[in-house]
Amino acid sequence: MKKVTLLALSFFLTMGAFSQQKDLVQYVNTLQGTDSNFGLSRGNTYPTTAMPYGMHAWSAQTGKNGDGWKYQYSADEIRGFSQSHQCSPWVGDYAVYSFMPEVGALVVNENERGAKFSHADEIAKPHYYKVTFENGITTEMAPTERGVHFRFSYPSSQDAYLVIDGNTAQSEIQIDVEKKQICGWVNNHRFVNHSENFRSYFVIQFDKSFEDYGTWENQENQIFEKQAAGSGKGYGAYVKFKRGAKVQAKAASSYISMEQAEVTLHRELGADKNVEATVARGKKTWNDLLNRIVVEGGTDEQIRTFYSCLFRANLFSRKFYEIKEDGAPYYYSPYDGNIYDGYMYTDNGFWDTFRSQFPLTNILHPTMQGRYMNALLAAQEQCGWLPSWSSPGESGGMLGNHSISLLADAWAKGIRSFDPERALKAYAHEAMNKGPWGGANGRIFWKEYYQLGYVPYPESLGATSQTLEYAYDDFCAYQLAKMTGNRFYQDVFSRQMYNYRNVFDASTGFMRGKAVDGTWQTPFDPLVWGGPYTEGNAWHYNWSVFHDVQGLINLYGSDEKFTQKIDSVFILPGVIKPGTYGFVIHEMKEMELAGMGQYAHGNQPIQHLSYLYSYAGQPWKTQYWVRQILNRLYNSTEKGYPGDEDQGGMSSWYVLSALGIYAVCPGTDEYVIGSPLFKKATITMENGNKFVIEAENNSDENVYIQSGTLNGRVLDRNYIRYDDIADGGVLHFEMGNQPNKERCTSKYAAPFSLSKE
Ligand code: CA
Repeated sequence: MKKVTLLALSFFLTMGAFSQQKDLVQYVNTLQGTDSNFGLSRGNTYPTTAMPYGMHAWSAQTGKNGDGWKYQYSADEIRGFSQSHQCSPWVGDYAVYSFMPEVGALVVNENERGAKFSHADEIAKPHYYKVTFENGITTEMAPTERGVHFRFSYPSSQDAYLVIDGNTAQSEIQIDVEKKQICGWVNNHRFVNHSENFRSYFVIQFDKSFEDYGTWENQENQIFEKQAAGSGKGYGAYVKFKRGAKVQAKAASSYISMEQAEVTLHRELGADKNVEATVARGKKTWNDLLNRIVVEGGTDEQIRTFYSCLFRANLFSRKFYEIKEDGAPYYYSPYDGNIYDGYMYTDNGFWDTFRSQFPLTNILHPTMQGRYMNALLAAQEQCGWLPSWSSPGESGGMLGNHSISLLADAWAKGIRSFDPERALKAYAHEAMNKGPWGGANGRIFWKEYYQLGYVPYPESLGATSQTLEYAYDDFCAYQLAKMTGNRFYQDVFSRQMYNYRNVFDASTGFMRGKAVDGTWQTPFDPLVWGGPYTEGNAWHYNWSVFHDVQGLINLYGSDEKFTQKIDSVFILPGVIKPGTYGFVIHEMKEMELAGMGQYAHGNQPIQHLSYLYSYAGQPWKTQYWVRQILNRLYNSTEKGYPGDEDQGGMSSWYVLSALGIYAVCPGTDEYVIGSPLFKKATITMENGNKFVIEAENNSDENVYIQSGTLNGRVLDRNYIRYDDIADGGVLHFEMGNQPNKERCTSKYAAPFSLSKE
């Protein structure tokens, strides 16, 4: 009797769990941000058809092979469906090969084979992409972690072809008519550090016989009829099917070997009888993930924007490991070209993502983060340097040594998978040596930074930005050393973390370029971009003291002077002065279009600004501006971002801020309170704990927090801790349309600052 009851209960609970899962992937628009070009970024994204953190993504391709703008919303022709790994157009793609279905005559030339389409005939979801061309061919694709399942449906009126393109570099192709199989490899890339043996092996298994076949090369577009194999620059294949055929093709790729590609094909797609099966699995995987944050009580458009952003926040860094037949992970290292057991992740520029994406990922995926932190240290041994901007090997792009931010942040949030001493040693090497690539591996002016306490300008372009970010990174190392009881490194890095003071000019109230002899850069105009500032001006970099906002306030002399300075950013005209850039770069144009003065949300340096009011007694201004940014600068459409999306960085800002929290200082366990966008949000942790954020009386007008409680007790500070979220609980706010200027204005209420400790 008891058994029956328990069974019935467990059945009921199981059903309950199922009925609670919402179909959230329906709200995701993978075309968000695709209406972009060189001069103006609305995201610089492409319709990424992929599994979460998938090793290979897939995308329709409108641009030429090798063009960073692989898919532009404004285009009316698609020339292929390609395997993609691109972080952004600025670093380009790698390991690309593509498929193009055709009717009528065989056309291999990529500039002539494009087929017309309209967005009305396109479905663009994470787990399923479908487009019907004007010529009647329908292409569907469904991704797996390392593969794809295609279905090409041809009209019956004309001959049916499929062209496979080997892209821009060396490639090899083999057609097996008997097995209905094509395999090969490509090695196009920009940033593989040991590129001689870099290969993306692929195997494609068809369910229909070939009526005809051949190879071709995409330099002169020569066709070799009935040739079953070919190799050279840009070699590909073509096959012919019966008129009106519906052809399914399963493909998988490996960086390790052709045999591994076959193992992966079998593991990931072997059981799928049709595309629908692959679609259903992808849909479930994405819904499982998206249901980790359930938001309620917003407009339809806000919900679409939220889940489209949550999707993009879960693509990078990419899994770069493969699974052996026995289930064990191993990988090809893009840093030294060897094969290793274990996990590897890559494709990320940490300058873009330490601020928002990793603090979000630490909430959602601590197990993966634990693996990743070990992978960072393995990469350091293989590369000689900690990754900063990898795609998939190290490029050294941008500035700072922000791996340490990831490592310290992971430790602060309870991740114990890695050896902190090894991390600190790796960082010390980074901080006291000149790297091979420039910006972000080692420090070009590390001696000056230690001797003078700042990177000098004009000696170093971007010097002031470097000083500020190095000081923050040194804080992260100090913090990791402190958390792990390492007195030696705590002492070493505690000496540099206040170096931001050395570039602050009290007479103008700005962080400025400073020469070796200590003189400030003249003439000085805080509106001018470039020079001592990387991708920004003095107004943007004034705030890059993530770890010591109180110290920054002290430099201004009072909360009033500090908050007036922040006010000015939003009040100033959106004037652009290109400075050393010499022309209007897209980030400048995006600042102007945002219509928020000198506030340039389209790029990273200033994205935490609105949260700084909460350190200086004016949290209601944080609440006001966060909501302005959420509602005015983001939407779910092809114009959905106010600048480069950047590997989940821009999206994670939205996700965290819409929840009402933001990590101003990764490396600490604090999330600063903003203003929740939704009436209710429920975060489910990996272990099942639930953290609920409620905002009663919330609306577009009622953006101000009147009162707050955490688990029933009055919340009298402007932050919560990671464990508050991880342990589960309820954060409750009462919202209103007028600021409560009495609440949380004290220094006790202010979030972490070194000078407050
Ligand atoms: Ca950027």
